[in-house]
Amino acid sequence: MPLPPAHFLVGAGAAELVRGSGQKRWLVWLVGGSFAVLPDVDTALGILLGRTAEFHGVFTHTPLAVVVFALLVWLVAGLRWAGIAAAAYTSHLVVDLLENRTETSVQPLWPLSEATLRSVAHIFPSVPWRRGEGPEGAAESLLDPAVLMWLLAQIAVGLLGFVLCVLLRQGWHAARRGQSLP
Ligand SMILES: [Zn+2]
Repeated sequence: MPLPPAHFLVGAGAAELVRGSGQKRWLVWLVGGSFAVLPDVDTALGILLGRTAEFHGVFTHTPLAVVVFALLVWLVAGLRWAGIAAAAYTSHLVVDLLENRTETSVQPLWPLSEATLRSVAHIFPSVPWRRGEGPEGAAESLLDPAVLMWLLAQIAVGLLGFVLCVLLRQGWHAARRGQSLP
């Protein structure tokens, strides 16, 4: 799974794409990025309980979770923030599907089926970090130079995703302004 910094950056970008023109940019980025990290709280819970694999992807990595989360945000904060919640949360599932590994935790049909999707493109490098239960030979610490290098590479790809989203929105708005000129 890509780690929180990459999810945060892409989530902030996804939020920028659907942001209302009256909404504060920095706030939307901050909230969108935080929303995009949420689906991995199951992993945090698993790490705390010492059972990482058991918890990850149980129900947080599903389209149903996107809908439930967006509805909750709608109730609390209104439609605009619900759109940002849906976009940011969905970005998490997309990023997971773009990691350089075959299996992901994304369960498209849950709760009807627990089948997981395979990665569709190897864009985000995997960070070889053991988290107490990973593959043999992987490092324990995120500060291990070999791990840190891959973490930075993952963050760089996330940053690229964020910048692309910002440029996409700017281009779209410029095109709309161009159309409305006489
Ligand atoms: Zn995930």
